[in-house]
Amino acid sequence: MTIDYLIIGQGLAGSLLAWELIQRGCKVVIVDNGRENASQVAAGLINPVTGMRFVKSVEVDNLLPTAKLYYTQLAAVFQQTFYIEKPMLRLFRSDKELTHGLKRLNDADYNDYLGTITSPDHAIKNLIAPFGFLEQKQTGYLQTRPLLSCLKAFFIAKGIYRQAEINYQDIQLQSALRWQDISPKQIIFCEGHHATHNPWFSWLPFQLVKGEILTLEHQSQLPDKILNFGDWLIPLNNRHIRVGATFDRENLNTLPTERGKAELLNTLKSVSADLAQATLLYHQANIRPCTLDKQPFIGHHPKHPQLAVFNGFGAKGSLQIPGFCQYFADTLLNDSPLTANIQRHYATHFTG
Ligand SMILES: Cc1cc2nc3c(=O)[nH]c(=O)nc-3n(C[C@H](O)[C@H](O)[C@H](O)COP(=O)(O)OP(=O)(O)OC[C@H]3O[C@@H](n4cnc5c(N)ncnc54)[C@H](O)[C@@H]3O)c2cc1C
Repeated sequence: MTIDYLIIGQGLAGSLLAWELIQRGCKVVIVDNGRENASQVAAGLINPVTGMRFVKSVEVDNLLPTAKLYYTQLAAVFQQTFYIEKPMLRLFRSDKELTHGLKRLNDADYNDYLGTITSPDHAIKNLIAPFGFLEQKQTGYLQTRPLLSCLKAFFIAKGIYRQAEINYQDIQLQSALRWQDISPKQIIFCEGHHATHNPWFSWLPFQLVKGEILTLEHQSQLPDKILNFGDWLIPLNNRHIRVGATFDRENLNTLPTERGKAELLNTLKSVSADLAQATLLYHQANIRPCTLDKQPFIGHHPKHPQLAVFNGFGAKGSLQIPGFCQYFADTLLNDSPLTANIQRHYATHFTG
């Protein structure tokens, strides 16, 4: 079978890239081993302004509208809502954070993303916020699991999905690119953290980070807003919340740990004592494909241009992947200059 692109990995990156290329008339096959991936475990949070100093994410003014439009269009196709927009309360953890928040509030460049600051004397019931909080706008979360299920069903219905573990030695590069019965023009690896085992792309400076996340049932009265207090809390409905996520650069496996759970529950109790009574429903862990320079890894192998990578979306896949799918498709089909091109690492990391 001759096709344009063989995509390896049906996480958010591979799924949306496949979708984008199909919309543009390409012949695509997508292969995945069917195991739980980072995209399914992720909370899907989109937060345009992050960190202690409240800094806008790189290119957020372009990436956010693209992501929102993308998820709205997918919702129309599959008759299901995937992206839930919900304001976020950023609870200050110190006077210093409050000062940074006040500074950003006076910056016109942040008007679209920041609301008002509430002082501690106007506290919300059940919420411990001794330094007050800032309301953030244009935040929300992507329901990744239903989105990936819909896309998988779509690929299966089109006969372009294969469940298989790709063994790299089964990929034939010469004389023509081939895997099993498929002859693609290019193979695009969208393997998330597994890319560190890929013989053609493991030289890229990944900086993987394990994360653990909890789903809890509770009886407390909470605001119907996302809370951010270093960790975050997403109210799924008035009884269920997701809480996360830990950052662990040492133990790069997908096992939930007692330590991770305790860390998340302790921080949670510090913002709402009531939530100490919450019941744990799920405890999950996976690995974020973060990168040394915090930019995605997109582009072609320096010696084998028929092999490409679309990866490195770190902790920001929901925000970044739709926009970067479009940029990459423009490059693949129209030769447009590529943003986040891995060429930036050829000289420093590729040894041949
Ligand atoms: C705990 C946690 C919380 C997170 N929270 C957020 C959040 O709130 N917001 C956000 O935007 N991001 C979040 N992320 C990050 C998010 O998960 C990633 O940015 C994104 O999902 C990466 O998608 P991906 O498709 O690159 O990788 P993955 O989702 O890991 O997909 C890669 C796929 O490739 C398959 N694969 C790999 N190698 C092979 C092979 N050889 N053969 C066959 N199949 C293969 C894998 O099985 C997998 O299905 C979180 C991550 C974690 C772990």
